[in-house]
Amino acid sequence: MSHRLVLKNITHTFEDGGRQRTILNTLNLQVSEGELVAIMGPSGSGKSTFLSIAGALLKPTSGDVLVDGEAINRLDKQELADVRLHKLGFIFQSANLIPYLKVKEQLILVAKLSGMDKRIGARRTDEILRRLGLDHRSDAYPGKLSGGERQRVAIARALMNDPAVLLADEPTASLDATRGLDVVRMLAGEARELGKSAVMVTHDERILPLCDRILYLENGSLIEQ
Ligand code: ADP
Ligand code: MG
Repeated sequence: MSHRLVLKNITHTFEDGGRQRTILNTLNLQVSEGELVAIMGPSGSGKSTFLSIAGALLKPTSGDVLVDGEAINRLDKQELADVRLHKLGFIFQSANLIPYLKVKEQLILVAKLSGMDKRIGARRTDEILRRLGLDHRSDAYPGKLSGGERQRVAIARALMNDPAVLLADEPTASLDATRGLDVVRMLAGEARELGKSAVMVTHDERILPLCDRILYLENGSLIEQ
């Protein structure tokens, strides 16, 4: 089975009061096609740093990040922006939707940004909204949606560019138990059916049974329990 996301010997240090602090220490991770991995760990353990590196938002001090086999940490700024646009899908804690765009316009914007043909973009938007059970909400503004619906739109938007990798940062933090389970069930299902490698940082123990693997970030590396 192929690993669409691989982190190889990732080390990251921050300068802290004149000395270097190692936040990630030769961290390794391989996420298979179709797999959803949950990452847990106390506040300050480096989860956001880890996700930023996996998502090409931050360059590691050393080590390689491979997306579909390509070492993205060696790319220049423009190439990195392209990788983020075409290969990575992000889902944030609060859905981060644009308040003045209707649901379908949030998705069409992604199509536009990635240079997709207008007709193809519109068709893909309809398809994905239908897939995620959101077609009846396509003309709604984010303010009119429930928290669960907003996160579903965030997943839909992340899927628009057919990314290799899905990265989610506490996607259920603002949801009640039922809605949280719905959202993660959807995330796990899409990853599996569409063959994505998905990683989710979470504190939410209720959703762990829906994940294929659970890893703990401890002393800068990932530990299976
Ligand atoms: P988590 O998401 O698990 O709470 P973070 O990755 O945000 O952890 O942070 C890990 C550690 O790195 C924290 O001690 C934080 O203060 C430190 N840190 C994060 N970003 C920076 C930065 N840009 N400069 C210096 N230190 C940072
Ligand atoms: Mg954090």
